[in-house]
Amino acid sequence: MKYECENFIVYSGRFEVNTTIFKKLGIVIDPNVGKNVYENVNQVLITHGHADHFGDAFMLKNKAKILAPRSELPFVENPEINWRGMYSWAKLPEKVVTPYFLGRGVKVDYFSDEMEISIKMPGHTPGHTAYLIDSIFVVGDAIHSPKCWEKFGILYYVDPRLMAESINAVKDLDWDVLVLGHCDIIDNKKEGIKIMKYNLKMLEKVDREIYEFVKEREEVAECEIFSHFAKKYNFKGIRANLVIMPPIRGHLSDLCERGALDMFEKDGIIMFRVKSHYKSILN
Ligand SMILES: [Zn+2]
Repeated sequence: MKYECENFIVYSGRFEVNTTIFKKLGIVIDPNVGKNVYENVNQVLITHGHADHFGDAFMLKNKAKILAPRSELPFVENPEINWRGMYSWAKLPEKVVTPYFLGRGVKVDYFSDEMEISIKMPGHTPGHTAYLIDSIFVVGDAIHSPKCWEKFGILYYVDPRLMAESINAVKDLDWDVLVLGHCDIIDNKKEGIKIMKYNLKMLEKVDREIYEFVKEREEVAECEIFSHFAKKYNFKGIRANLVIMPPIRGHLSDLCERGALDMFEKDGIIMFRVKSHYKSILN
């Protein structure tokens, strides 16, 4: 156990995932403690379809209702789909799959989208949803811990612009405690806002770094961009490198949409070149 007060308790689960249990309501969000701590739980809420956020849900399938966002359902029911997405929908050998995506699927009983407590926060995944219950804001991976940013330099998300918009939209909501997907629980709103702003700053930092790397060269292959950032942030091995491809591609794609970069093909290779000056991802 990591944090407890009258209404709720947070366990630090596998991969330091925060599993939040609302004791009186019988609700658990993102169960992945690795043992059955879910005695009075009758409702399981899942923020998104990464197996590190629902690893224990199968333990509860006969005694609790399982709820997940509509567009995350295929990944919750069949986590293997995530691996395929990482490799252009071709089958990826299990040994090179990130352990964060390995887990047992569970059948979803209801969609959580229409619940009053649901707050859409896409960006980390397309259907990522946070839950706001009794001023406790459980945001899953929609907001990353500064510790993780400092440790890895680039973190997983598929759409950095949507991620920034999602964070901007929730700053003024009525919450007192912020429970991040991994590591931090912040019971001070000022500190919580600071972490949100830090995430925005880091999204822009990575975005600008990618733009500058392309700008310094006349034209550059996508795989050279992956290689540069893998070396810069010390990502080693296939598993780690597959995980940084989606965020880098997310930035590249959005830089093209903003008109800052141009994407083209040369000899069968996806290439990028600068088209215009840098425009911030936060505008
Ligand atoms: Zn995730």
